[in-house]
Amino acid sequence: MALETVRVVVRCRPSNSREKDLNCKVVVSMDSARGQCFIQKPGVLGEPPKQFTFDGVYYIESTTEQLYNEIAYPLVEGVTEGYNGTIFAYGQTGSGKSFTMQGISHPTSQRGVIPRAFEHIFESIQCTENTKFLVRASYLEIYNEEIRDLLGKDTKQKLELKEHPEKGIYVKDLSMHTVHSVSECEKIMDIGWGNRAVGYTLMNKDSSRSHSIFTIHLEMCSIDDNGKDRIRVGKLNLVDLAGSERQAKTGATGDRLKEATKINLSLSALGNVISALVDGRSKHIPYRDSKLTRMLQDSLGGNTKTLMVACLSPADNNYDESLSTLRYANRAK
Ligand code: ADP
Repeated sequence: MALETVRVVVRCRPSNSREKDLNCKVVVSMDSARGQCFIQKPGVLGEPPKQFTFDGVYYIESTTEQLYNEIAYPLVEGVTEGYNGTIFAYGQTGSGKSFTMQGISHPTSQRGVIPRAFEHIFESIQCTENTKFLVRASYLEIYNEEIRDLLGKDTKQKLELKEHPEKGIYVKDLSMHTVHSVSECEKIMDIGWGNRAVGYTLMNKDSSRSHSIFTIHLEMCSIDDNGKDRIRVGKLNLVDLAGSERQAKTGATGDRLKEATKINLSLSALGNVISALVDGRSKHIPYRDSKLTRMLQDSLGGNTKTLMVACLSPADNNYDESLSTLRYANRAK
């Protein structure tokens, strides 16, 4: 597989009020012209910062608009041509994953990747003649290796992953919702987001312990030169991964610890799949090691495009987590 099909960028959010109250130092810096990210170990004088290079770096003042136009746009464009694509947000809880994927309405430059992708797809539909389009959305979460439909009638029901000889891997009974406008998309996004399993950890009271996958399914039907129907299908997965933090810091015990172990397993399975794809020499891609990678099998690798946005806190008290995020992202390049 060609290297360009997996791209990795890093985004660092501004210090939050808690970090300011604690007088945390900013240990992350970036050189956007070179795509470099630096992280300085706190309390160690004279040691040079660790340095990483990515396909793009987005610092404190950056906007989702910038990130979308520079790096996500071509991937979504591919979906409008009938390819599959996947965008992941990775990082510890509170690092800006949802801010990047769902976004906020004001300022508009910080609207999320999900509504932007919808807008992009609708604009592209309006500019295309002689083609019929069907845009549908589904939204699910993987929590404790169990799949639930965030837009289903019963959001507690566990759904199964099935394999169809032609269609490939699919989630049985997952609800599909036809969408006609960006505002309909935003409504669906909010409803689904509210239906997630929410866990309480010390890091952030509504930290997400589940992976949520918003998928835009696009079907295009046109008439070819011979007067025959030509049907193309593109799929865009927008994935807000569960927090990548390790348990020691979150104070997890019992069920929470069990969840955390499953989260870490699926994140490392994803890391292994992506690095096997990037490596290009591996014959075996370990898709089957987690529900997340199995489900996304037809949207990772082959002629699909993948983007990982690794999110960071700038603060010294998150140094270990930020370094581990940078190492994870670095492996995915
Ligand atoms: P996560 O989804 O990784 O747990 P969030 O996206 O919920 O984290 O971000 C945590 C907090 O930080 C939120 O209040 C969010 O508004 C804020 N935040 C995150 N990224 C940014 C950013 N780039 N600019 C401004 N605020 C941000």
